[in-house]
Amino acid sequence: MAKAEETVLEIDLKALGHNYTFLRSKIKPETKFMAVVKAYAYGSDSVAIATYLQNLGVDYFAVAYVNEGITLREGGITAPILVLHPQKTHFKTLIENNLEPSIYSKAILSDFIATAEETGKTDYPIHLKFNTGLNRLGFSTEDLPEISTLIEQQKAVQVIALLSHLAATEDANETDFTNLQLERFDAICQQADALFKTKTLKHVLNTSGIINYGDAQYDMVRSGIGLYGYGNEPHVDAALKPVMTLKTIISQKHTIPKGESVGYNRKYKSDHKTITATLPLGHADGIGREYGHGKTYVSIHGKLAPIIGNVCMDMIMVDVTNIECEEGDEVEIFGKNLSANEFAETAQTITYEILTGLSQRIKRIIK
Ligand code: PLP
Repeated sequence: MAKAEETVLEIDLKALGHNYTFLRSKIKPETKFMAVVKAYAYGSDSVAIATYLQNLGVDYFAVAYVNEGITLREGGITAPILVLHPQKTHFKTLIENNLEPSIYSKAILSDFIATAEETGKTDYPIHLKFNTGLNRLGFSTEDLPEISTLIEQQKAVQVIALLSHLAATEDANETDFTNLQLERFDAICQQADALFKTKTLKHVLNTSGIINYGDAQYDMVRSGIGLYGYGNEPHVDAALKPVMTLKTIISQKHTIPKGESVGYNRKYKSDHKTITATLPLGHADGIGREYGHGKTYVSIHGKLAPIIGNVCMDMIMVDVTNIECEEGDEVEIFGKNLSANEFAETAQTITYEILTGLSQRIKRIIK
């Protein structure tokens, strides 16, 4: 019986390599691959993930914020890094760390040009982000002439790429809308090509976009979740391998007579003699209260044990009445044997959320 010592997140780099190879096989050899490693590489370890992928030849990395880009630079990542949502206060450090901003409004463009000029830059690379229907961040098509004038009037920055983000690439009911977004992006690219003097890279597809809208791969794709082993669709999941496995240990077992309760607020009451196991992780680790309703399972020696009672800050309790196990035995919360998709679904959330919500106090083990 496997023994464990503490709660750990195992990060399987071979699985990462497998997923990268799979996703690359879906695009043309000349199409660049941007690995999205924001939010600690979806909750894992951004430097470990990016280092491995850089060695495999990934062309670009994407993060959300400047501090995430700095972490990569300090960790030795030399490939280009796009910052998807840079804040004005960090423009100077963005430039000092040779990061590329995704510019999404005229105000941000003017501010960035001003900072690039102050720091004496010429042709500093920027990506322009267009809103094609996600209605989150991005210029509108009508902004193009003004952007082009702003760009022509200065020498500090150079537009090297155009991007947009799609709202529903995994949703077969939304193909019309996705195609509309792609048509809008295409029109923007054509107009921009006529306006800008330099040739720009175009990128729009995320993981599910790569799978379902391969014709729109343009010059580069941006993949996150697929690299970590999840594809938003069963047939893609089947081809991928989970990179992260969250494991823990049984700290203590209790035998509870019928009618006793378990945990805070007495939310679980046993209707039979119950054997419980207490595990050292809780909502402070990213396993929120929504997982404590008896519908979410963990795996102990290949058997499923439901989480019972309210999730505590640092502990959860599971029902092991029908499982042969002892204190010190290993428990898989999700990963290799128990899909993070299913784990997330029991709390009516998505795999992205459970992965990125894993707290930094969980020890990461790179395998
Ligand atoms: N591009 C942008 C702008 C994103 O915000 C994200 C993820 O949130 C991605 C690409 C990667 O998406 P996915 O993880 O679905 O591949």
